Amino acid sequence: MHTGLFFYYQQGERLKDFPDALGCALSRPNVFFYDAFYPRKPGSSFDLEPISPASLYKIHAPQMVQRVMATDEYEGALYSASGTVSAAIKVGAGEITNAFVFTGYGDHHAGPDFFGGGCYFNGAAIAIQEVKERFNLKKFAVVDSDAHHGDGSWALFENNPDVLYVCFCSEPDEIRNCNINIQVPSAVDDDTYLSLFRDVLRQQIRIFHPEILFWNWGYDGTTGEYGDMGLTAEVHARLALELKRLAAEVCNGRLIVVLCGGSRRDLATMIIPGVVEVLANESS
Ligand SMILES: [Zn+2]
Ligand SMILES: [Zn+2]
Repeated sequence: MHTGLFFYYQQGERLKDFPDALGCALSRPNVFFYDAFYPRKPGSSFDLEPISPASLYKIHAPQMVQRVMATDEYEGALYSASGTVSAAIKVGAGEITNAFVFTGYGDHHAGPDFFGGGCYFNGAAIAIQEVKERFNLKKFAVVDSDAHHGDGSWALFENNPDVLYVCFCSEPDEIRNCNINIQVPSAVDDDTYLSLFRDVLRQQIRIFHPEILFWNWGYDGTTGEYGDMGLTAEVHARLALELKRLAAEVCNGRLIVVLCGGSRRDLATMIIPGVVEVLANESS
């Protein structure tokens, strides 16, 4: 079992302590550190594949891509999505089992022809399209536990029978085709959230049986964050463990964690190493 960490050096406060904050995870023999710019760990570095305009246009309208290109965030958006696409290709090829993608910008508010809320390109949607074409893989699930509703992902996956999309947010419960929205109470404790998450996903993912599981993971629902739902910093590793076990059961452990919402540097530094540890720990 191998874990891939997909990283690029970026502007902003949130990930300033990384990759050093990952500590001993970086020296584990089963962890590959894929670094867009600087080789850190021999043997697995410097090979973040760029995304071609053609693969962007398969998901997003050309006019929308043009509008993103005109922003100052274009390069960061491209690297963010590129991390997710590279992770999916390496998982599809069997080079790694699971992955954590350090993004600069999230993806779930980026839809077929719109973007916003700090999201520019929908990395998971682009990655799914890419691996479908490269490998004999047909079914995918995207679990979205960012605090906010993933309107972009919802619109992209709504008419796609190959993708189960499950969004946990404050919007009312809804089911449309393979899209499921689960309403989370406005103030929730870790145990209540975890059991809601576990009950819904165990049922849905066992039925749908995806071949790769994506997790649009945000920590913005943590107490003190901009999407505060009342969750503690400790809940995230517990959610990660639940998904890791589910992925082991249904899809040979293929799990790709994509960093979405969350802005605080102290919380990133406190929470992310725990989530990565769950992915990389071969006995969990
Ligand atoms: Zn959010
Ligand atoms: Zn939602």
